[in-house]
Amino acid sequence: MTFIIQGIGAAKGISIGMVHIIDSGQVDIDEYTIPETRVDDEIQRLDEALSLARAQLRAIRAKTPSNFGADVTNFINVHLLMLEDTVLTQVPMDLIRERHCNAEWALKIQRDTVVGVFEAMDDPYLRTRKDDVDNVVNRVQWILQHVERSDQATAERHLEGKIVFADDLTPADAVLMRHQGVTGFLTAHGGPNSHAAILARSLRIPVVAGLHNARLYLRDGEEVIIDGRQGALLLEPTGEILAHYQQLQRFIAHHHNTRQRLRTLPTTSANGERIILQGNIELPADATAATEVHADGVGLYRTEFLFMNRDTPPDEEEQYATYRNVLEAMKGAPVTIRTLDLGADKQVDGGRPGAPLSANPALGLRAIRLCLQEVEIFRPQLRAILRAAVHGPVRIMLPMLSAMHEFHQVQEILGSCRQELEREGIAIGKDIPIGGMIEVPAAAVCADLFARELDFLSIGTNDLIQYTIAIDRVDDEVNYLYDPLHPAVLRLIQTTIRAGQRAGIPVAMCGEMAGDARYTRLLLGLGLKEFSVHPNALLEIKQVISESHIGKLKKFAARMMRTINTDNRMALLQAINANTSAALSS
Ligand code: PEP
Ligand code: MG
Repeated sequence: MTFIIQGIGAAKGISIGMVHIIDSGQVDIDEYTIPETRVDDEIQRLDEALSLARAQLRAIRAKTPSNFGADVTNFINVHLLMLEDTVLTQVPMDLIRERHCNAEWALKIQRDTVVGVFEAMDDPYLRTRKDDVDNVVNRVQWILQHVERSDQATAERHLEGKIVFADDLTPADAVLMRHQGVTGFLTAHGGPNSHAAILARSLRIPVVAGLHNARLYLRDGEEVIIDGRQGALLLEPTGEILAHYQQLQRFIAHHHNTRQRLRTLPTTSANGERIILQGNIELPADATAATEVHADGVGLYRTEFLFMNRDTPPDEEEQYATYRNVLEAMKGAPVTIRTLDLGADKQVDGGRPGAPLSANPALGLRAIRLCLQEVEIFRPQLRAILRAAVHGPVRIMLPMLSAMHEFHQVQEILGSCRQELEREGIAIGKDIPIGGMIEVPAAAVCADLFARELDFLSIGTNDLIQYTIAIDRVDDEVNYLYDPLHPAVLRLIQTTIRAGQRAGIPVAMCGEMAGDARYTRLLLGLGLKEFSVHPNALLEIKQVISESHIGKLKKFAARMMRTINTDNRMALLQAINANTSAALSS
């Protein structure tokens, strides 16, 4: 009889294979004090272990095939930076000198302090970053204790076709094991935000996370099935279940091949309508991922990421160079630069010094509101964008617009930046379209008024859903109410699309809903013609569009907007997606 253990589906896909269990390799730390005469030797021992850890990571990075994507090397680079940071190098050395503790103990004391800071954070994504600290510290502890690291231990093993079970995985483990042919990951801890999950999604390996007690039931070498869509681990599968999943695998593989064939073709629906499909990017390196899948440009460049994880904000010069790089990487395709969307869950290090605590940060001074208040942050960004526009087609997009006077204020500041640059004799781009994100219900309801003056609109469903249904998008306790299919959300989407059509300006969608294949046909039925999605999701969305006859989807969309019962909405969604590749995501 098949036995199912439910975890969290963290990366889609099906894998069937033998389990390979990796024990956590946690090392017991010896804690002891050393005599004054041995302090320098102990500091040197730690220094050598840190150097070796860095060398190991560099070796893994060098072995990473370039087609693994920017995510993978980014994670390894972050770990390398940590291994160079004084927080994990100098501070433990000072502890050895001051308290005469041994290297392992000093490292553990500092690890506990840093992890404590991460654990106190409200943001679930940032909380999981404590895993990085642990990954890095464990690596050094293993070296200090001469324990074989898991990435060295697995290097010689035959992992081809196997499914790996581990407590958690480091980015380095994931890269190495993918290289060795691992086809699936099971982890006792973690969830969709864990590094293993994020990496596996870019490596296209199914992951089921959060399988806390599964280790008790798993035997090394037994055959299992993992279903990354449903978050299920199936033990002792019967012949019938095995056949079902093998068929599902063939179906997925077939769709994957079809998608690869679509890569270089323009995005058109089954009835021949051209749809614009652009990429969302966070870092300049992501532009390469967007060009690899032949995106029609960048529909959302989240520039705030350039301001994070550093002590001082980037100046105009650095921003100009970065935007220019992105434009050059996109080779003439348009790049929509969203101005800074800081505040609420996206804080720069330490937030704004001296700023009062907001009781409702999501309703507070964030995005365009913050930029208009703190013009000294905003002006260098606008000047950098104007200068970068000489190197390719740029569009400026304003986040979280809720009133037209915000747009008018931006126009004024932009005009003065332009004049200033002209006076300084610096070349700037001309005719730069300015659009607004529709992510506040007020803007969606008044989209017709906004569309009279803005050059384009882009629907940010992540925020639009949170503000429409009044649920904090990062609050786990109310997450069950986060519903893209809520008729109120759909009505606001349709109002916005229609306002754009009447005004003759483009309307895109760049929130996560645009990149979720389950909703593609519904959105086409609502009249959406431009999607901006994570490059990883682009081909899947393209395939669904190519299978869709838009005329036939309109009546489904109209019915969905009238359906208040959740179960009925899910049934309707299944009916819209029946017999298409979108059904695979449902
Ligand atoms: C959105 O709100 O849908 C959006 C794309 O912006 P962000 O997720 O960056 O807030
Ligand atoms: Mg938003």
